[in-house]
Parts: sequence; structure tokens; C-alpha cells
Amino acid sequence: MANQEEQFKKVISHAKEYGYIFQSSEIYDGLSAVYDYAQNGAELKKNIREYWWKAMVQLNDNIVGIDAAIFMHPTTWKASGHVDAFNDPLIDNKDSKKRYRADVLVEDYVAKIEAKIDKEVKKAAKRFGESFDKEQFLATNQRVLDYQEKGDAILKRLGKSLENEDLADVKALIEELEIACPMSGSKNWTDVKQFNLMFGTKLGATAESAMDLYLRPETAQGIFVNFLNVQKTGRMKIPFGIAQTGKAFRNEIVARQFIFRMREFEQMEMQFFIKPGTQQEWYDTWKEKRMNWHLSLGIGAENYRFHDHEKLAHYADAASDIEFKFPFGFKELEGIHSRTDFDLSQHEKHSGKKLQYFDHEENKSYVPYVLETSIGLDRMFLAVFSNALQEEELENNTTRTVLKLPAVLAPTKAAVLPLLKRDGLPELAHKLVDTLKWDFNIAYDEKDAVGRRYRRQDANGTPFCITVDHQTLEDNTVTIRHRDTMEQQRIAMDEVKAVIAKEVDMREWLTRI
Ligand code: ATP
Repeated sequence: MANQEEQFKKVISHAKEYGYIFQSSEIYDGLSAVYDYAQNGAELKKNIREYWWKAMVQLNDNIVGIDAAIFMHPTTWKASGHVDAFNDPLIDNKDSKKRYRADVLVEDYVAKIEAKIDKEVKKAAKRFGESFDKEQFLATNQRVLDYQEKGDAILKRLGKSLENEDLADVKALIEELEIACPMSGSKNWTDVKQFNLMFGTKLGATAESAMDLYLRPETAQGIFVNFLNVQKTGRMKIPFGIAQTGKAFRNEIVARQFIFRMREFEQMEMQFFIKPGTQQEWYDTWKEKRMNWHLSLGIGAENYRFHDHEKLAHYADAASDIEFKFPFGFKELEGIHSRTDFDLSQHEKHSGKKLQYFDHEENKSYVPYVLETSIGLDRMFLAVFSNALQEEELENNTTRTVLKLPAVLAPTKAAVLPLLKRDGLPELAHKLVDTLKWDFNIAYDEKDAVGRRYRRQDANGTPFCITVDHQTLEDNTVTIRHRDTMEQQRIAMDEVKAVIAKEVDMREWLTRI
């Protein structure tokens, strides 16, 4: 655990030190759970977005992309259920004045019980050595069984109280378990209240004429309300998809964990419109397709897993998360939801407009079913970035910090380094930058010894370093160094472009999906 925390701290400080992510308005001490993408972060984020967009829109002839406004007619959010049901149960500690999600307090309590089980397992494994059978131990050890039963009972009661909106019982549970405020240790709690996660704002100049608006809490509704416009103008035939990337806003109560849970974030969503009855088939298909997209980046299959939901949201008939092994454990990265005809039917009801599709094959109209894939761009950023950051032991007993970003996503593809700041080497290096910059983001660095510059580019995630030296003056060759292997090759200057392109070309990567 301590290790995980340390690793996560390293990720956060590296993101700042190397110009990836800054706290928003830092000079005013920041704004909680709001972050700015810096010069490198903006490029990495753009590349992830592009990788998604190309895979979803460009490579699927039945998927088109839109860019809907953040502001939407307020009835949208009544229809979608967000006004009435997009709530988290919150509780305040009267002494520390800290606010918590009541369900998270209880879940954290259960996590501690689970940690005790882990401890028992570790102890027993040590005691029994080779002959230890974990499954059997978990199934028979009385202490473990008691812990397990206690944890299950608590979660079951929590689930039931939340489902029945019995917030008094959630508070009773917190009191019975004697859960204390993690900040102050106090058990002096307020009642549990529902808290709507949408940010409100106003449209219009005068108080009388102003209209209450919300900042969209998801991009999906911009797609649903445009369903018929796109279908008609694009002459789309079912099955077809509409994709979009854009900002979403949620007034998260517990906004910790860096860019994992932000109040302003970006989503990449795709709604796939299908014939009712075919949802299982498309659910399976999109689960597989989306997992393959992740795996194509080469981050390692062991870092991903599916988590199928047992408890479903009001709009879904099946749902699964793709979870990623973040520095703080496996957590949701992407959701794949079978949303039935819930959204389109709701918008029909609230707008009074028909949102149906005429199926020529079936010779009838129907409200299509929807299969959704929804991924947080910032969470994907965190997944890629945290996994890439590594400390490597080198042969000569030194270590290096290297950011092994997939080359296709790296903000800067190559750095050009003149070995010395004289003898015409900088001029030659600048000339090389000028030829490469039309195709790639290229850095130029002439400060410090070349070894230091290599390290700097390693930590920055730059896949290639190209060194211009005295031999270049004679025969037009340069040294190209690969970030991950640290191997160096001598190649002709006019081959450089092709060598970089081979590793960073998005086309190559996309064919792996
Ligand atoms: P969580 O349970 O973590 O709050 P969710 O189930 O509410 O997430 P969805 O509404 O399904 O999330 O949103 C789809 C995706 O949007 C998530 O898988 C996640 O990647 C991203 N996302 C949701 N909320 C946030 C947030 N506050 N900050 C960053 N990304 C988010």
C-alpha cells in the first residue's frame, strides 16, 4: 500500500515537473479537482483523442462524429433522469467540517475488513509454506469466514438502503460501525443527504428572463437529441453509431486521486443505434472491440479486466466496466452499457417529437436500442501515463527515470541534439529540425552533456534522440538512439524521417486493433 501511494505521488510530481499537468490556478492555491494540461500534456491528450477518434469514426463507415454544445435545453436533463436521480449520498462531519460520500465511508470500512483477510492469508502462506492452498484457506478458516460474512452483510445493507432511498439507515449504519472522520477521528456526523452532481448556471441577462441551465454531466445526451438529425442528413442505416468527445462537469463530492476524478473532465463516447432484440450481440461485440483498442497500445493485457455490473443503472439492461490497474488498484476506465430505448423514449416523451427509425427491411418504425461505449479521456491519460513511468536499474549500477509512452501517443517524437555548441553542429541540427518538423513534433536541445540530455528526453517520454556530431559534417550520418532499448545506430540523415515514422505512425498502430 505504502508502495502504491509512493508510486502515485511520483506520477503526480513527474506530471508537473515535465510539463504534463498543472493544478488549475495554482498561483491562487489551486481549485480542488480541476487541472490544466500543460505543453506536453495537451499533446498527449490530443493524441489519445485522435487515436480514439480514428479507431471509432474514421475506420468504421457506419459511425460518424459530432460536436454538440455543452449547454443544452434544461428539459434534456429532466428527460435523462439526471435532475431526479444523478445524486450521491453525502454526509458532513460536524467537527472537521469535512464532507464525505456516505457510501464511500462504508465501502472504505469494508475495504479495511478485506485488508484483514489479506493479512490472514499472508500470515498463513508464510506458516504453511509450499503446501499452502489459498482457496481452501479462504473457504475454511473461521476467522476469514467471519470477516467475509461481516463485510458482505454491511455491503448488502448499504445497497438495500441506497436502493430504497433510506438515508436514515445509511447514517445508522455509519454510527453502528462507529466510523470516524478520517481527518479528525470524530464520530459527530450530520444526517445523510442526497446531493445532485450537476453544476447549475443561468442563461440570459436579467433575473426575470434568465433560464436555469446545467453544465452537461455527460456528452451522451448531445448525441441522443441529435439522433434523428444525424440519421436523416447522413442517411444512416441501423446499425450505426454517433461519436463525440468533449467536456463534462460533475460536482464530485469526493474528488481525490488526481485526474482520476475531476469536476471538469473530458469524455469520449459513442452511442450505437441498433434493432431492439440485438443488444446482447452488440454488447458482446463492443466489449471485445473496445478491449482490443486498449490492447493495441501495448500496455499489457494484465493491466485490464472486465467488471460486469450486477446492480444496473435505471437505463441499462447490461453493463460492464473495463477496469485498469491504476497506481491505486483496479478502477473503472471505460463503461460499456446496453441502454435499451430508455433515452430516446424519454426524449420522445418530454419533447413530444417522434425519435423513431423506419426500418425498410422490417417495413416498420421503431425506437432503436442503444449500445454505449464511454471512456474518460483524462482517466485514459492517467492509465497511459502512470503505466509508462518507470525507474530502471542500469548495468552500471545507476538508475534512469523513463516515461515509456506508446510512441504513437508521445507528445514529442524526437529530439535533435548537436553534440557541441560549436563547429557548425547547432546549425546542422537546426536544419534537421526544419526538415522533420513538417511531419512530427521535434525538440531541439543543446544544453548540458549529451548523456544528461538523453536522460531528460527519457523522462519526457520522447521515443528518439538524434545526435549530430563531427562525423555528420563529413558524411551526413547521425546517431539515432531509441528511448526504450537505449540502442544507438548510425544512419544517414535522410533516413531519419522513415525510421521515426515506422514507430510513431498512427496507421501502423491502428492496424493492431
Ligand atoms: P465513477 O463510478 O468512477 O464515478 P461513473 O460510472 O459515474 O464513474 P460514467 O458516468 O459511466 O462514470 O462515465 C463514463 C466514463 O467517464 C467513466 O468510465 C470515466 O472514465 C469517466 N469519468 C466519469 N466521471 C469522471 C470524473 N469525475 N473525472 C474523470 N473522469 C470521469
